[in-house]
Amino acid sequence: MNTPMPYRRSGCSGILLPEISLGLWHNFGRNDSRETCRDIIARALELGICHFDLADNYGPPPGSAESRMGDLLSQEFRHHRDEMFLSTKAGHLMWPGPYGDWGSRKHLLAGLDQSLRRLKVDYVDVFYSHRPDPQTPLEETMGALVHAVRSGKALYVGLSKYPPELFHRACAILREEKVPCLLHQFRYNLLDRSCEKGILPALTEEHTGAIVFSPLAQGMLTGKYLSESGDVPVLPADSRAARQDSVFLTPEQVQKQTRLVRSLNILAREAGMPLTQLALRWLLRKPEITSVLIGARTVKQIEECARAAGCPPLPADLLEAIDALSGGE
Ligand code: NDP
Repeated sequence: MNTPMPYRRSGCSGILLPEISLGLWHNFGRNDSRETCRDIIARALELGICHFDLADNYGPPPGSAESRMGDLLSQEFRHHRDEMFLSTKAGHLMWPGPYGDWGSRKHLLAGLDQSLRRLKVDYVDVFYSHRPDPQTPLEETMGALVHAVRSGKALYVGLSKYPPELFHRACAILREEKVPCLLHQFRYNLLDRSCEKGILPALTEEHTGAIVFSPLAQGMLTGKYLSESGDVPVLPADSRAARQDSVFLTPEQVQKQTRLVRSLNILAREAGMPLTQLALRWLLRKPEITSVLIGARTVKQIEECARAAGCPPLPADLLEAIDALSGGE
């Protein structure tokens, strides 16, 4: 294990995030084992993974990941609150009617209040606008984030999935209010490099930290779906693609990526490391990535992912071989 966990600074701020952070989008819902959730959080803390990422709609059902975390925080980890860096988000569908979704001031601030109640905390460390709202004025959505900080319910604010131009405008509004955008969440992994020519350079310009989600492409980049031979994937029981309660990774998506994943897996084997390590270390090669936000269903998974932190850079010839397969910058 490469301990201690290295921490990276987010832009020009006091935020220091572990190279590997833990997201609770899956595996912390109502039907997941409380004991396993507790063991994952406890092991994460031991490994120096102090950042836990939530959103109001994580579960399933929506809200249940925050309720589970709130239960664990109040029952088991109360004394660790100041060591933890907790984030939540609002902006996806949560309740019926015109204020249950998107980016109005009403939705964001009601959503934050609900999150605080479920999490049983007085404040979160970061509050995000979970996605841009094409209908609500940007000034209103950013105004809600500013209010969250001024009212003491969030210490910092962030954005998620904003395209570059909108992101720059949002940053300008927030800067004017002296509540800078310090983190931006977006997808980045070996199967999806679209951010390299889009949001990533914009973040550098704005001095905003980058926290990247689905670094293992929801598990595809662990090689777990590869069969011994042929391009027909296997679906291990309990895996995300096999679970009925997860609609975000389908067997069809897995099938589509099998050939590329197989080639990357061969590269990883030749380099003497598991594909999971290659995928995470490849992201950490970039100093502008503040943290890589993984999901974990078991303690073993989080231990394996944490091993990618603090490793030496991948050699140049390996990076070139990866570019040749997955499309360079
Ligand atoms: P990953 O790409 O890390 O996928 C996590 C899944 O990969 C796990 O649930 C597990 O799946 C599998 N896995 C992880 N480690 C291992 C391992 N060592 N060996 C084998 N399998 C492993 O990330 P997610 O897609 O879960 O996203 C991470 C976080 O990013 C979310 O929890 C959330 O906080 C954030 N996010 C934010 C979004 C946004 O809109 N802002 C959107 C999406 C995510 P299995 O169950 O198959 O074992």
